[in-house]
Amino acid sequence: MKALVFSESSTLAAQVISGLKSVLDFSVAVPKDQADSVSEYGAKEVISLDGNPQMDAFGKKISELMNSYDFLFVPSTVLGREVAGYVSAALGQISVPEISKFEIVDSKCKTSSLSLGGKSIIDIISDAKVLTVAPGFADPVKVSEKSKISVMTLPDSSVSVISEEEKKGTGVNIESAKVIVSIGRGIGKKESISIVDPLLKAVHGELAGSRPVCLDYQWLSEDRQVGLSGKKVNPNVYIAVGISGQIQHIAGMRGSKIVVAINRDKSAPIFEECDYGIVGDLFQVIPKLVAAING
Ligand SMILES: Cc1cc2nc3c(=O)[nH]c(=O)nc-3n(C[C@H](O)[C@H](O)[C@H](O)COP(=O)(O)OP(=O)(O)OC[C@H]3O[C@@H](n4cnc5c(N)ncnc54)[C@H](O)[C@@H]3O)c2cc1C
Repeated sequence: MKALVFSESSTLAAQVISGLKSVLDFSVAVPKDQADSVSEYGAKEVISLDGNPQMDAFGKKISELMNSYDFLFVPSTVLGREVAGYVSAALGQISVPEISKFEIVDSKCKTSSLSLGGKSIIDIISDAKVLTVAPGFADPVKVSEKSKISVMTLPDSSVSVISEEEKKGTGVNIESAKVIVSIGRGIGKKESISIVDPLLKAVHGELAGSRPVCLDYQWLSEDRQVGLSGKKVNPNVYIAVGISGQIQHIAGMRGSKIVVAINRDKSAPIFEECDYGIVGDLFQVIPKLVAAING
């Protein structure tokens, strides 16, 4: 069966191709500037989309292309979800959101997705043709032979950009971090964040935070927020410091391989989600943990 991946990001498209190329034959459609970098991941063809990169232009083009494909996979970004919605409506096909697993069973697709804000995982069998893919679907794996690239022109867009403002951020990409130290409201105040610096150094980690820390108090930039309305991360180790473990936070870090939690409240929900839990005051626990790690 043939599938098309659309993404504005070659890295995210590469994750989908790498995760599913043993099951499906893939072509990938990306904006022109991403075409070369996605050509190293084993797609049959890379379609380089040239023109005004607006959602409706991508939606129209991908809808046309879908005459030749059985499935469309779209990594779940803001643009990706918009395009998936456009295509699904244009084709009159149902779509399945945020899949973390995919297989074909008797010509139908069987998928797993997070449900109820990340509280549970739902497995369904459906006739869906359009699927959005949760971040961290698979590790991108390069192949030796490059895909052939063909250029297609995007149709005109009815969208005019009136102004653009660069979003303030640190340029950090916590989604690709292997070790994350994530702080919550338990840290108390911005000045106390330095308590985790030695821990970050000891574990070679990237700093992240819960929504109150990143959005409400803005102690960290928004691109470090983990959760339902933040980033979905899948590090090898996730150290949650002063985070209660509400379901909207868990939705963003459930893909972590090992979870360590430090919280002074032994009934905090984070202890139900962790592999190693330390009940105690983070200001006392962290120095001891760092000393133990550094030997
Ligand atoms: C639609 C929606 C989307 C949301 N999206 C997100 C999201 O993307 N990400 C997200 O994180 N949240 C999100 N939330 C908010 C979420 O519901 C929680 O409010 C939030 O995760 C709580 O953050 P927290 O754990 O940092 O704070 P709190 O829940 O206040 O927890 C602080 C924890 O720190 C502990 N603590 C305090 N002092 C210490 C100390 N000295 N030592 C050790 N432990 C200490 C406390 O025991 C407590 O468990 C969303 C909510 C909604 C409604």
